Amino acid sequence: MSAAEPSAVFLPGSTVGFLGSGQLGRMSAMAAKAMGYRVAVLGPRPDDPAAQVADVFVAGDLQNPADLARLFAAADVVTAEIESVNADALRTLQARRPVRPGPSVLAIAQDRLREKETLAKIGVPVAPFRPIARPEELAAFVAELGRPCLLKTTRGGYDGRGQVRVERPADAATAFESLGGGKAGLIAEGLVPFVKEVSVVVARCADGAVRSFPVAENEHRRGILHRSIAPARIPAALADAARRLAEGVAHALEVVGLLAVEMFVDDQGRLLVNELAPRPHNSGHYTLDACVTSQFEQNVRAVCGLSLGAVDQLRPAVMLNILGEHLPAVRSRYTELLKDPYLKIHLYGKAEARPGRKMGHLLVTASSVDEAVERAEALWASLTP
Ligand code: AMP
Repeated sequence: MSAAEPSAVFLPGSTVGFLGSGQLGRMSAMAAKAMGYRVAVLGPRPDDPAAQVADVFVAGDLQNPADLARLFAAADVVTAEIESVNADALRTLQARRPVRPGPSVLAIAQDRLREKETLAKIGVPVAPFRPIARPEELAAFVAELGRPCLLKTTRGGYDGRGQVRVERPADAATAFESLGGGKAGLIAEGLVPFVKEVSVVVARCADGAVRSFPVAENEHRRGILHRSIAPARIPAALADAARRLAEGVAHALEVVGLLAVEMFVDDQGRLLVNELAPRPHNSGHYTLDACVTSQFEQNVRAVCGLSLGAVDQLRPAVMLNILGEHLPAVRSRYTELLKDPYLKIHLYGKAEARPGRKMGHLLVTASSVDEAVERAEALWASLTP
């Protein structure tokens, strides 16, 4: 069997290569190390979160084919912890080593327009959307919708960056200019009157086996995930539907590895998919301390061609992101915080704590969701007076 065979199995002792050196790669690499794998990481700086725990660090750029080739030379199987990689270069390199999830899935997830078109084509509900090349098209779209829309860059936006709200057709020209006046690709999406945002992380193996983690309920502040509550406080039938929907997308895209599916629950109780991420996801961090198998271990299992672990949740949980502005409070009260035996503090080892930058997360577990939420809220109030 050649190394690039879709079903190839990689046993402990093999090297898992990660494209990207952030916290998602770090926590995946730590899971891989716990299982006995070696880890190679490609990223910009040797003190990046995943680089710190790698056996082999390749300094380089995720867009540069030569840098990607150096990571491939150091690894037996390759996966990405961020979707903005050079997918075309990966199409060539995958003849040497399997890339899981594959370049076509990465190419879909890195382009909002391609993502929405793909989802619509496979029959997955999404917000109304339209590619926008000129301000008049945007004005017409808002007029047709009869409600506000969001104008987003098709590529590169994350944590709420690269998007602007358009209230009325008359606002179209200003909005269009504020996102580069058409220099970058743009997509307009009807604003969904959502009552909740939820997400599901699903793992899929080459043989088609899938397992999805319990649904997380997500709250954003200023476009950045603030907290995830798991299991989500939604009816059981809706949670089942969300998991089946995520599993269906993973099958349709033939994902091998992890796929995170972000969804809205609208005011009619319907699920609409907002975004796909073919990698571990911030809203799945709760699995690290609250589930039989974490999303990071599941990632390694799926990428290495092994069977998936159980996804049972052992305790209800609330995850709170620690951003740069929160880090001083966490550090100064670190020993006191850890006196709570049900609080876990994860820090990503980033040297520079900029505002809005994800530095770590807190995980509160309890015997009920309500109790976990209550404790998390009290904890957060004490950290951010
Ligand atoms: P995104 O970068 O697409 O994940 O968007 C970031 C956040 O903006 C989402 O988590 C939502 O809170 C909000 N958002 C994005 N798209 C929509 C939409 N079509 N309708 C309502 N809210 C949205």
